[in-house]
Amino acid sequence: MDKNSTVIEKSLTALLEDESFLPDLQAQTREQAFKSLVAILSTPNHIHKSFLRVALENGTIVRIPSFRVQHNDTLGPYKGGIRFHETVSEGEVSNFARLMTLKNSLHELPFGGGKGGVIINPREYSVKELNLICKKYVQYFNDILGPDKDIPAPDAGTGEREMDWMMAEYKNIHPGQPYRGSFTGKSIINGGSLGRKEATGRGVYFTFRYMMYDFLREEKKWLSEQDNKFAETALSKADQKLTVAVQGFGNLGSVAAHEAFKCNYLQNQVVAISDHNVMLYNSDGLDVPALSKYAKEHNGDLPNTEDELAENNIKATIKERDDLLEIDVDVLIMAALENQIHEDNMEKIKAEIIVEGANAPVTETADNYLSERGVLIIPDILANAGGVIVSYLEWKQGRETEFYKEDQIYELLFDRMQHTMDTILPQFFGDPFPLRQNCYIHSVMKLSTVLFRQGKLY
Ligand code: GLU
Repeated sequence: MDKNSTVIEKSLTALLEDESFLPDLQAQTREQAFKSLVAILSTPNHIHKSFLRVALENGTIVRIPSFRVQHNDTLGPYKGGIRFHETVSEGEVSNFARLMTLKNSLHELPFGGGKGGVIINPREYSVKELNLICKKYVQYFNDILGPDKDIPAPDAGTGEREMDWMMAEYKNIHPGQPYRGSFTGKSIINGGSLGRKEATGRGVYFTFRYMMYDFLREEKKWLSEQDNKFAETALSKADQKLTVAVQGFGNLGSVAAHEAFKCNYLQNQVVAISDHNVMLYNSDGLDVPALSKYAKEHNGDLPNTEDELAENNIKATIKERDDLLEIDVDVLIMAALENQIHEDNMEKIKAEIIVEGANAPVTETADNYLSERGVLIIPDILANAGGVIVSYLEWKQGRETEFYKEDQIYELLFDRMQHTMDTILPQFFGDPFPLRQNCYIHSVMKLSTVLFRQGKLY
């Protein structure tokens, strides 16, 4: 059984053992409800797959495997990104679709969960070919997509350019029908929302900051009275200058690093950043804006030679990319891909706070091991929901054809994330479950209650 299934089962067991949960559910049907819920949550409603037939610029025809998995629509239309990456597989897309169901439920968004994937390395295709791949994706899956059916968004390897192309193709296929809400994460000129691009990275840092500073400051006394190893970890980091390492410097990592850099009044210091080539380290703190500027001018890459660093006046030591996870820092922000912390490196992790910006960056074994050690893991569905929350605002603005100002977007985003944390954190620090399980309990409780009220558990 994979990590999500295990945590879902544990959460359901905890919920159904609590008699105050769904009191109208008879004792004899609790066991049956458990089985039904496990079945509903562990399997997607639909797996759609297709081979996209694409003519490359050199004249060759290729057939590219692609997926759209619709996990659950109990709370609203399916919602989740489309990933372009070589490691995409049906199993992985299904797992991410399920995470979207849980994430949307946790933050009380009116969406179910879905995810898409295309098995390509986008760096190997020309712009024209990528445009064709996007159009074909929409042509092949257009029946199952739409503003009230299933609404894709960017994920690893896709961005506003791809969403613009896809929305345009959807509009071509469905003339005269509403189309603005068919895709989110579009460019602003094409109906996208201000702040959407930065939303995931800003939300990741906000989650960490709210928990470790605002919440901790308010609840310090209460926390110190709890017999809980995670509360102990959090308190041991209170009111201190924390060092931060960020794995990944794409849209997510660069924004999260920049947020940490900007909050220097908290005295946090970003000492290490890695991308797909290299790690840069400076114990006195890295110049994040200079690195972002460099990356923007160099196809997203960090400088990776002494000369490039010197030419750009950036003070840093070049180190092995993968050593970033093992360096001595307080906080690790995971902003690359899944399964980065695993059985082989988990014992070398020194950070006591791990923030999951990427989806599923810690494997089940590593998650159990680190949680046992009292490492505070802020899980993906809590920390990285900024993207889908602003996607919701984009979808809503598209319906109203009226757009909010940027600061209104951030206010709505942070309000919602704060609301979720105010619900979850007192529960978490008060009991012995890891934060992931607390988040899952909350999501699953909402889903189960709605399923029960809709008569779907009989
Ligand atoms: N791909 C992002 C995620 O994993 C965003 C999804 C969305 O905006 O629908 O949360």
